[in-house]
Amino acid sequence: MNCRHCNKELSHVFADLVYSPISNAMLKPEQLNEPETYYPLKLFVCDNCFLVQVDEMEKADSIFDAEYTYFSSFSSSLLEHSKKYVEMMIARFGFDQNSQVIEIASNDGYLLQYFKDLGVPVLGFDPTANTAKAAEEKGIETIVDFFGSNTSTTLLAEKNIKADLIIGNNVLAHVPDINDFVKGMKIALKDTGVITMEFPHLMKLVDDCLFDLIYHEHFSYLSFSTVKRVFEQQGLEMFDVDEIPTHGGSLRIYAKHKNDTTKKINPKVQQFLKREKDAGVTTLDYYSGFQKRIDKIKYDTWTFLIEQKKLGKKVAGYGAAAKGNTLFNFCGIKGTDLVEFVVDASPHKQNKFLPGSHIPVVSEEHLKTIKPDFVVIIPWNLKTEISKQLAYIRDWGGQFVICVPETYVF
Ligand SMILES: [Zn+2]
Repeated sequence: MNCRHCNKELSHVFADLVYSPISNAMLKPEQLNEPETYYPLKLFVCDNCFLVQVDEMEKADSIFDAEYTYFSSFSSSLLEHSKKYVEMMIARFGFDQNSQVIEIASNDGYLLQYFKDLGVPVLGFDPTANTAKAAEEKGIETIVDFFGSNTSTTLLAEKNIKADLIIGNNVLAHVPDINDFVKGMKIALKDTGVITMEFPHLMKLVDDCLFDLIYHEHFSYLSFSTVKRVFEQQGLEMFDVDEIPTHGGSLRIYAKHKNDTTKKINPKVQQFLKREKDAGVTTLDYYSGFQKRIDKIKYDTWTFLIEQKKLGKKVAGYGAAAKGNTLFNFCGIKGTDLVEFVVDASPHKQNKFLPGSHIPVVSEEHLKTIKPDFVVIIPWNLKTEISKQLAYIRDWGGQFVICVPETYVF
């Protein structure tokens, strides 16, 4: 297998999570009697461009094929984050009714709705029909397709649209062909347009051992240096970068056409590159030792769950996120003896089963009826929001647990 960006042969394994089903492939009750498809889950690091990436696998269509159950609008903290972003961007760049905003992976319109409310024309791109339908219901025109140089060219021809702003949040890391994806944005961007992308920062993943961000749909694990390199190859230049708290530490990058002289390059760009270089992000040494650290998380999670089982305690989970499937499948948790059920607020996930572990996903009512002793908060990045919302478990002596980057009870 060769690097998705620079085509150099890959020979350095960064993390091997052995194998698991696709993390969004939740099962309906009737599917529990059917065979389940598992795929290898191994990450390599390229010794030339330091792009961390998943092993070659099924083409992307089959991943998003299934009825995709993640509706962004069910996360109140994501809505809050999106609203603040829209206000910040309008204040900084002055987008108005004469501007065009395009969001790639626009999901159910969770973000574009705020631009629309302020009268800024929007267009979404999303390959998943049922989330796109929810966006259309909010009045947000959505093209149901993958984004890339082909769809970008078609879009220009058919709709005569170019963007003042292209947004992609948690999508850059999820595209199989990152070069073509960035090329597509170059084509769709007006001469003085802005691109912003948010993605989990590789340095946070390594430093804080956030291995449950690893799953099949997540093809690339990105540092600022590598993303800068990918964009430069397509004639795009970074002019700013923000660190944001999503997913345990993400970056928001700002890009423009290389020959667009209307925007100053923030000194933060050079400072950030230096910080990554000083940390060793552009050396192989930085990536060694990660496997040992994630193995320890596995043993600690097991130990905790088995101890509780022996003591006759009940453990449940909260949040049927991809993170949980990585954790449960890497830890080899099967069935309901160690984790009885997982609660999720989204009705699209309830009454289904987690892939691999087959743990049932239920509504919050179950928590109040069963009264578990421990609730594992799976999306640890939302622990403040979730523990506040479920504070009532304290009434029966219930406690919260976080498993990544270490077992922590509170
Ligand atoms: Zn490479």
